[in-house]
Amino acid sequence: MISLSHVSTTFAARGREPLTAVDDVSLEVPRGKIQGIIGFSGAGKSTLLRNINLLERPSSGRVSVGGTELTSLSDADLRRARHQIGMIFQGFNLVNNLSVAQNVELSLKFAGVRDRRERLRRVAEALEIVDITDKASVYPAQLSGGQKQRVAIARALATKPEVLLCDEPTSALDPFTTATVLQYLADVNREFGITVVIVTHEMEVIKALADDVAVMEDGRVVEEFPASELLREGFDPRTSIGKYLLS
Ligand code: ATP
Ligand code: MG
Repeated sequence: MISLSHVSTTFAARGREPLTAVDDVSLEVPRGKIQGIIGFSGAGKSTLLRNINLLERPSSGRVSVGGTELTSLSDADLRRARHQIGMIFQGFNLVNNLSVAQNVELSLKFAGVRDRRERLRRVAEALEIVDITDKASVYPAQLSGGQKQRVAIARALATKPEVLLCDEPTSALDPFTTATVLQYLADVNREFGITVVIVTHEMEVIKALADDVAVMEDGRVVEEFPASELLREGFDPRTSIGKYLLS
């Protein structure tokens, strides 16, 4: 479903050495799976996630989603292909002067859904999925963090993407609210077969949600394994995941 092949991303910095944030990463995420990505701050997790929808264009390597090689598309084709890919962020990124319903509708406008009735139908459907219909006419400032994140999920789902990219979606939330948001993510994965990539530094999030996990260090994926292995005891502290768990 998602295929990254030798992806590298280097940031040029004036007067300093260029910084390689993502260093030769190859990763396959099968359709319908939930892929976790963990690693310390600065490891390159967000950059790698943004490489998947080319929000950050890799300096080299190939990115394919759903059989389409995004890295070879023209800008116009890329804009169309991006509608297959929803994204949610730690900071929610809602537009403050638009209501909840208008926030969700905006993504449908961007996606080129011209018929207003169709947009409103899809807004209602998306709000229903995350049980936030009662807040449709409310503004973001009047929502709790968990509610904001549910709106962000609704907004990402409204265009019916095949892939949902999540960058630290729960790190601004308390443990109870985190559990609710994770439940909604698990539900949309199961019900709609959406492939999910979730970047987090919270091991509990990986355990609760992921099928597989990749550990990043200095821009590289240094370990990959099934998330179920996290449930076992006794990690070797010399391995990346061992260092991570014991830190
Ligand atoms: P965190 O857990 O703190 O969010 P991360 O693993 O998501 O960290 P990235 O945000 O991907 O890390 O950053 C990886 C490296 O790339 C960092 O050293 C960062 O400073 C650098 N970097 C990220 N974005 C840019 C940019 N737009 N320009 C220059 N350097 C950048
Ligand atoms: Mg990050």
